[in-house]
Amino acid sequence: MPKLIDGKKIALEIKNELKVKVEKLKKEGKDVCLAVIQVGNDAASTVYVNGKKKDCEYIGIRSLSYELPEETTEQDLLNLIENLNGNANVHGILVQLPLPSHIHEEIITQAISPEKDVDGFHEVNIGRLCIGKESFECCTPAGIIQLLKRSEIEIEGKECVVLGRSNNVGKPIALLLLEENGTVTIAHSRTKKLKEITKRADIVVVAIGKPKFITKEYLKPGSVVVDVGIHRNQDNTLCGDVDFEDVAETVSAITPVPGGVGVMTRAMLMYNCVEAVCKEAL
Ligand code: NAP
Repeated sequence: MPKLIDGKKIALEIKNELKVKVEKLKKEGKDVCLAVIQVGNDAASTVYVNGKKKDCEYIGIRSLSYELPEETTEQDLLNLIENLNGNANVHGILVQLPLPSHIHEEIITQAISPEKDVDGFHEVNIGRLCIGKESFECCTPAGIIQLLKRSEIEIEGKECVVLGRSNNVGKPIALLLLEENGTVTIAHSRTKKLKEITKRADIVVVAIGKPKFITKEYLKPGSVVVDVGIHRNQDNTLCGDVDFEDVAETVSAITPVPGGVGVMTRAMLMYNCVEAVCKEAL
């Protein structure tokens, strides 16, 4: 059996570290505060939002909840964001996606002040990441780096292949692996001879949104696999983009689904909130 990269354990470790930090900040008179905005009542979004509020409570972050009706206009939402941007007591702003179709997600994510963009979606933060400057890193890719580092998997000098080039997973994780001195290749749906490329990799990050797509034929024996995909099987269990059972005997370490990358995303959101206060204090 390969080593299981335990996202649950590592996420809890990070949340406990943050708890200590937040307590210390409180003693210095700084009360970390996250504004959480949900428009409409999409059931999955409500689950995500509640999970984030629960994490805030656990760590000691104050969360302000804005539950807006489905018919909220784009302008109303922009007004609220402008208000929160100008509120010195609010350190992070999170708008739960997806938004109702009459609201443009890009306009909204770019309206959040880069200093309060704890999701790391603002162009300024992505640009800063690109040139190696301090920024709010997108939560899922930042979580993957923590998973690798805290599992003592070395990135420096390793052949890293990222499958997928989305703006919130594929591209930023490739930049972060590069920042860690990995040798990085990005593959996508137009990539030719994919197996030849993935078979070279010491570390493979799979974010393609295709259930159980990656099988042992794609992997080098002993490689490390990070599975970002999340899919619901017919029997209501979850699976990833990697066929876990098929690759288990080939890889040296792998993130399970669930309990791998997914749980880290929320932990890194909390990390960014606390960072927002620390950065402010500089
Ligand atoms: P996305 O925006 O749909 O992007 C998918 C990427 O995969 C695209 O770049 C696409 O290439 C590439 N691709 C598709 N088929 C391919 C193939 N056969 N070979 C190589 N590349 C292929 O997806 P995403 O937002 O990055 O998410 C990917 C998966 O991760 C989904 O299952 C999503 O649910 C999950 N996810 C999980 C978390 C978490 O917290 N765990 C967070 C975000 C996403 P083209 O660009 O050429 O189309």
